Parts: sequence; structure tokens; C-alpha cells
Amino acid sequence: MTEYAKFQPWLDWLDQRYDETLDRLKSWSAINSGTGNIDGLDRMRDVILDAFAELDAKTAIIDLPDSEAVAADGSIAPVRYGKLLHFSKRPQAPVRVLLCIHYDTVFAIDSPFQTQRLIDENTLNGPGVADAKGGILTILNALSALERSPFAGGIGWDVILNPDEETGSIGSAPFLAEHARAADFGMLYEPALEDGTLAGARKGSGNFSVRIKGRAAHAGREFHAGRSAMVAASDCVMRLDQLNGKVGETTFNIGKIDGGGPVNVVPDNAVVRFNVRVSNHDERHQAENEIADVIAAINQRDGITAELHGQFGRAPKPMAGRTKALFEWVRELSHDLDLDIAWKPTGGCCDGNNLAEAGLPNIDTLGVRGGLIHSDQEFVKLDSLIERAKLSALILMKAGSGDLPDALKKTEI
Ligand SMILES: [Zn+2]
Repeated sequence: MTEYAKFQPWLDWLDQRYDETLDRLKSWSAINSGTGNIDGLDRMRDVILDAFAELDAKTAIIDLPDSEAVAADGSIAPVRYGKLLHFSKRPQAPVRVLLCIHYDTVFAIDSPFQTQRLIDENTLNGPGVADAKGGILTILNALSALERSPFAGGIGWDVILNPDEETGSIGSAPFLAEHARAADFGMLYEPALEDGTLAGARKGSGNFSVRIKGRAAHAGREFHAGRSAMVAASDCVMRLDQLNGKVGETTFNIGKIDGGGPVNVVPDNAVVRFNVRVSNHDERHQAENEIADVIAAINQRDGITAELHGQFGRAPKPMAGRTKALFEWVRELSHDLDLDIAWKPTGGCCDGNNLAEAGLPNIDTLGVRGGLIHSDQEFVKLDSLIERAKLSALILMKAGSGDLPDALKKTEI
């Protein structure tokens, strides 16, 4: 019997899950679970709990702490999140794996994109079909196959489904990091590209807001007594933009300026919002220093105060060390399924960045094949539903059979 043949019965078993998986994907896509739609996230969680019951895992529903955001008028407003789902099985097993994906989408309750449509017999269009409800179903199918196999006893697993990834996982990040530290490797279910290519190295990312306060005055009667927050914001924008090209490959993107009001008033309020992408930790520290200098310069302006809010929510994820070893091992395994897994770097980021930062080697695009995510053209290739579940099932069974390469085992710190 070849190595692969011993896993084959449970991989073949997955073929019969196709119809049920497709039905679920359509009905799950029809539930709006935009990050801010707490009711929709509650409904989504209920159907996930129902589906995952077959795994007979220890289940917890976790409240996430509120975070805060700077509103357009410069005030600080609380941000609420949905609840996080955590499933766990065999925590004492010799190998432990963490499987994660988000169950929120970028499509808010008032988005016009709420329906599902077959584009052709292999392509389904709908919110979240690829990003990432197809990924949740991939986890479910892979674990179902594992649990039916004789290799399950050799591997323990945690599944984390978070409700806030699309806004940066600010609420769920501490929980992800805590569980990342306990696992040998991580499997994340963001979609792969349409041709099956995975994301390799990822840039780190931070979202920031600068609150700028000036002094209001009547534009006609006492213009010179005013201190314009809008002019200070413009200065801030130009200084931030000039940082492009100064810190390696780091980019500084000004996304939005809020503020001002009637044109007969010198404006006393403005908020500048920007995103920064860094390739490595050095760039991140340099970028932080440069941003601090810009804020200091704005505070030098007469009658103006500037205050920085925000953070790097995503650390860079380099393709190196145990993460590289994991990719190479999975590529080798994929040949048994007649796949040839390839990967390429991306400027995008996801929870795979957070897991890597916590020391967990991980592949973060083990979900379905699809594309045009975050748009109303989002699609999934339906022949990838079972194909990708088989890939994950093979990884899990192989690791559970005692064949995880030593290089991938967690080293005690
Ligand atoms: Zn996603």
C-alpha cells in the first residue's frame, strides 16, 4: 500500500458531501453577516453551530471587548463586535493544529449585494461565497473526514471563527494570539486565487486616524482669530504622502479627510485617515518614527493640536523558516491529489499575519478557489469545494498519522 492509499477512503468519502456543501454555501451566503451587523452575525453563528455539531467538539461562544474609533466629528465612539466561535478537540494530542477563518463579510446590511446566482455550472456569485463562507465549509468537511479516519487520535485541533476580520480583527486578535502559541502549525481559510495559487509572504498593515483640533471663528468678522484644522490637515496629508519612497517599500495611503463645515466658519475640526503597509519589522519601526515626526510638526502649528490614533493591526508575514517548511511540505502532499500548490507574495493581509507574529507557521489561503472578493462580482469555483477539503483532510490525516516533519513541530520556548 502506498503512503497515499491509506488516506484515500476518507478522501473519497468527501465526494458525497458536495450537494450538501453547495446547499449550505448558498443558504449561508444569503445570511447577511457584515462586520457591523450583530444580528446577522448571530444568525450566521447559529447555522454554523448547527453544522459543526457533527464534530462533537467542545464549543465556546466568546464575547469580544468593544474597541473604539474616531468619528467624523473627532469624537471617540465605541465599536461593538459579534461573538467569536471556538471549537476544540483532543488538546492533549501529540500534534496540535489551529484552523481559523472569519464569518463576517465586507457587505453591510444595506449593501445592494445580497443574492446568489450561478454564473455557469462551476461558478457561483454571492456575498461571502469565497471570502470566507466557502472556507468555513472547507474546515467542516476536512475535519469530518479526519474524525471518521483512524488518524484522528494523533492530532488535536482548535477552530476559531471570528466576527471582525474584515475590519482588522482588533477584538479577536488577543484570542487568536493565545491559541496560536499552543499549536504546531496553523491552517487559515481565506480563498486561494482562481487558479489555486496561495498567498505566500504578506505585508504588514496599520490603519490610523489623526484628530486635529483648531479654533473656530467667523470667517468675516474675526478670520485671523481662527486656527483652521482643515489647513493643518492638508499639511498633515502632504507630509504623510511625502514619506512614500522614504522608508523602503513602505506605502502611506491617505484614504479620507473628515472635517470642516460651512465656508463662513474657520473650521476647528478635521480627521485624517490613512493606511500604512510595511514589508518587515524594521520598516514598521521606521514608519512609526516618521509618523510621530509628522504629528510633532503639526503640533508646532500655532493653535493646533494633533493626536494620533490607530495601530499596526497586522505584522508582516515573511516567507521564511517554519512557514516556508510548511508550504513546501503541503506542496509535496498536494501532488498526491494531482494538484501542484504554488504561492506568491501579496500586499494584502489577514489573520495569517497575526498568527505568524505569535510564532505560528501557517498557510492562510487554504479556502476555496475564487476571486473578485470585496466586490459584487465575488465568485467561487464550485469544483474547489471538495478539492480543497481533500487537501486539508490530507494535511490533517498525515499530521495525525505521525508524519509531521520534525521541522514543523512546535519548539518549546
Ligand atoms: Zn477574508
